[in-house]
Amino acid sequence: MTAKEWADFSAWWERVTAPDYREWEEGVRRIGGCAHPIHLRGTVRLVDTTTGEIVYELGDGIDRTTLLVPCGNRRREWCAPCSRVYQWDTWHLVKAGLVGGKGVPDSVAERPRVFATLTAPSFGPVHAPYEDHACHPRRNGGQCEHDQPLACWEQHAADDAAIGQALCAGCYDYAGAVLWNAHASKLWHRFTDLLRRQELPRAAGVTRAKFASQVRVSFVKVTEFQRRGLVHFHAVIRLDPVAAEGRVPGWATPELISSAVHRAVPLARLTTPYSLAGQWDLSFGTQVDVQPIPAVDSEAEGHNADAVASYIAKYVTKGVEDTGSAHRPVYCKACRGTGLAGACHGCEGSGLRISPAELPGPLHARAMVGTAARLGGFSEYRELNLRRWAHQYGYGGHFATKSRSYSTTMAALRGARADFRAEQTRRRLGVTGELAVDSELLFSGTGYANRAEEQIAEGIRDAIEENRIEGRAALAELLAEEERWKDWI
Ligand SMILES: [Zn+2]
Ligand SMILES: [Zn+2]
Ligand SMILES: [Zn+2]
Ligand SMILES: [Zn+2]
Repeated sequence: MTAKEWADFSAWWERVTAPDYREWEEGVRRIGGCAHPIHLRGTVRLVDTTTGEIVYELGDGIDRTTLLVPCGNRRREWCAPCSRVYQWDTWHLVKAGLVGGKGVPDSVAERPRVFATLTAPSFGPVHAPYEDHACHPRRNGGQCEHDQPLACWEQHAADDAAIGQALCAGCYDYAGAVLWNAHASKLWHRFTDLLRRQELPRAAGVTRAKFASQVRVSFVKVTEFQRRGLVHFHAVIRLDPVAAEGRVPGWATPELISSAVHRAVPLARLTTPYSLAGQWDLSFGTQVDVQPIPAVDSEAEGHNADAVASYIAKYVTKGVEDTGSAHRPVYCKACRGTGLAGACHGCEGSGLRISPAELPGPLHARAMVGTAARLGGFSEYRELNLRRWAHQYGYGGHFATKSRSYSTTMAALRGARADFRAEQTRRRLGVTGELAVDSELLFSGTGYANRAEEQIAEGIRDAIEENRIEGRAALAELLAEEERWKDWI
């Protein structure tokens, strides 16, 4: 046994033989084995409001006890159990907007809706997997000015690390790609505005005012990072009657939404501010996919509601990790990435906590991060906060957004879960009346004390995972369904 193994073993032994072990283990189990729990210290009392009796007490006010609560992080890379909860909430939220339930009327299932995918344009050739042909077959090949071949005759496997990498980093327009990411949310807003105010009324043959008086457009969208480091958007777009009990007019059909989307996408454009790096006219890529989502028992062609909900839920737990980027921000927090005109001691003026040369990941990812960091120094791009978002290649938008009227909210779903737990607690404690919580808690830290605690938590996490019942097959189904979806690179 090495000294380190001995130290690990001692820490483990100390943990499992401590008098509070059972309680601690129960706490870790209760938070699903969260990888980065939050510690709260203080007292919690549960009071039966009918009798006024204290039915449960954590900490007696003198000997304050630590309570573990889950980190609640969305990203799988950071915390698998919490990201799974987030993923399931998203699934329920999207599904409720398609078939009803969770406080959403069942009539939503009859409303016209589509599943649309908007992509980024090309900023230069990247390696891509095709089933039926080579990556970049060019007969008279040739080389670019950096002596890199212009052709690639490989037929890349889906897991080939080359996928998404530029054929030549010298030729690739990294500044354009970063600025596209940085403006993607703005482009999305332009697109939804055009759809709502111009293209849907036009396709319906009614005035904007008449359209707005009869129909409301609602959507839920998720952001996906493609392997080449550019974002694209998947969205459910639905038409609702303005009157709560009403129906949408006859012209409101999935076909109408589809043609309006196809017209609105190329019209959503913007021009970046001019800088020494250049100026770009930005718009979505030409690949736009729009599929109807028919009502559940309908014979019509299209995607089914479960598959769409699963597809969207799958992406909400992801960040840029599939593209090999740094997982954490790389900007200098001391100066918020500004470098303070060279005077910041934290970063010696670079605005970064690490130098672009030390960034992890493949060349393409590093070039995207490095470019965002460099452009972050241009005053013309100040409001884009490019250094703050450099680790996400310039994208600082949300990973999941929805319009207010789409369906229930994450907060409502969390509330429902809390109610369910309270009901379980009431039963466990044999309380018939309402329970009141009287607590006084303060933040006292995060994470686990040592590697031993982490390992025990991992074990608990694995055990919970193994016991997971098969009713959760919807995400597995998605894998089969996914074959049918184009994965644009
Ligand atoms: Zn967690
Ligand atoms: Zn290739
Ligand atoms: Zn080149
Ligand atoms: Zn600094």
